[in-house]
Amino acid sequence: MSDPMNVLAPEHRRLRIGDAWRDAASGATFAVEDPATGRTIAEVADADVVDGLAALDAASKAMAEWAATPPRKRSGLLTATYRALTERSEEVARLITLEMGKPLAEARGEVAYGAEFFRWFAEEAVRVEGRYSTAPAGGYRILTVPKPVGPCVFVTPWNFPLAMGARKIAPALAAGCTTITKPAAQTPLTMLFLARIMEEVGVPPGVVNVVTTKRAGAVVSALLADSRTRKLSFTGSTEVGRVLLRQAADNVLRTSMELGGNAALIVCADADLDVALDGAMVAKMRNIGESCIAANRIYVEEPVREEFTARFAERMGALSVGHGLDDGVDVGALIDEASVAKIDELVADAVDRGARVLVGGKCPDGPGHFYPPTVLVDVPEDARMLKAEIFGPVAPIISFTSDDEVMAKANDTEHGLAGYIFTRDLQRALRFAEGLDTGMLGINRGLISDPSAPFGGVKQSGIGKEGSHEGVLEYLDLTYVAIDLP
Ligand code: NAP
Repeated sequence: MSDPMNVLAPEHRRLRIGDAWRDAASGATFAVEDPATGRTIAEVADADVVDGLAALDAASKAMAEWAATPPRKRSGLLTATYRALTERSEEVARLITLEMGKPLAEARGEVAYGAEFFRWFAEEAVRVEGRYSTAPAGGYRILTVPKPVGPCVFVTPWNFPLAMGARKIAPALAAGCTTITKPAAQTPLTMLFLARIMEEVGVPPGVVNVVTTKRAGAVVSALLADSRTRKLSFTGSTEVGRVLLRQAADNVLRTSMELGGNAALIVCADADLDVALDGAMVAKMRNIGESCIAANRIYVEEPVREEFTARFAERMGALSVGHGLDDGVDVGALIDEASVAKIDELVADAVDRGARVLVGGKCPDGPGHFYPPTVLVDVPEDARMLKAEIFGPVAPIISFTSDDEVMAKANDTEHGLAGYIFTRDLQRALRFAEGLDTGMLGINRGLISDPSAPFGGVKQSGIGKEGSHEGVLEYLDLTYVAIDLP
């Protein structure tokens, strides 16, 4: 098999600014690693503030023309991007696996998911509408005119190197906005490849800019302080989200915040256990557990605890761990050593407080950042992993005996992104849907991400929605026009 890096020529491992691929003004570069081996796979440009502001110049200059481009033409370019990504799915997937570590099958899933945002928002681009109505008291008319918010700054995480950018860039372009994306330093290659694809399909210069940097703090804060920026959309940790919200406040920017989660997955005694097991495996292990909507806490009602736990542990223990590009691998490498160390500490803390390890629980020796699928039982409520995002293949199982009890425990977190409930009782499911403080809930389903559905959290998991019709509204301002008409 050829080297996945061949798809991104050295001239495209640089900053995408306006119509150029260029080095950082300082000439600096930084290394990107394969997390499964620790080997350097590429050097990319390391932007500084001056480069970030050059990207903002390009995005600002392109703004008026892009906003005035007919929606059908913008839509066509998004469709062309969807097609190109789909046609080149295997190349993109291999690049994602190489820089991020997820198994190839998961990376293919991410390409399909990421590409779908371009198809969905191609369809939304031609359906941006205002409305016209008679003022209730008569005498005049009310017209609303949607307008693109302006140049947008996007900051994205490493866990879905394509999809997290796609679900910002696609609706922004549909609405008529221009963009600057700062991908995570650990996974910049996929976003550069996307920018290259969008250049090839004919997206005009300045509409999609990509700035790779190791100096996220300095570059992003300079962009947010510049009054030409009109919107920030951030996906990442709640901690960094708070910092960026404060910075965005100085310029009163529109913001969308897709932050951390701490999803509870609840298995009721009346659930179809086969369905619950399939759902729990997906909700826990999709993306190696490195997902904001990953099941962080699995609550199982006492009568089925023993059976569920035994069957879940058996399935977790049967997963194979290895390099994501190798055949038959279910669980790839975690992103870095710090992530492995954090998970190891959370497991040790739970064990110190009385939890028992049924499967896994021990870091393997050797190169690469691996952690085995792990199942813990008897996890006490004060274990740190029940409050923190585990972000890895570790599943704590906790038993419960009443709906009120488990609802209170599930809601006892600053996060409110996703939840999962498994029951055959519709009324019970709906009581959970109404009572759980989450932006999203899977009922008898472990997979909920869908470009046509509004993705987003409540509480400290975020502000705003991505995907669906709501996704495009995040990039539109409304001008209200009062028209005198007696
Ligand atoms: P992170 O540390 O918050 O980083 C996210 C992005 O922010 C990266 O591009 C990072 O750049 C940048 N960044 C870090 N510090 C910054 C600063 N001071 N100023 C400006 N930018 C800064 O998160 P992560 O570890 O990459 O991703 C995991 C987190 O993302 C988890 O909490 C997960 O739940 C969350 N997430 C949420 C969603 C959602 O939709 N709600 C989806 C996916 C992930 P560098 O790479 O250079 O540090």
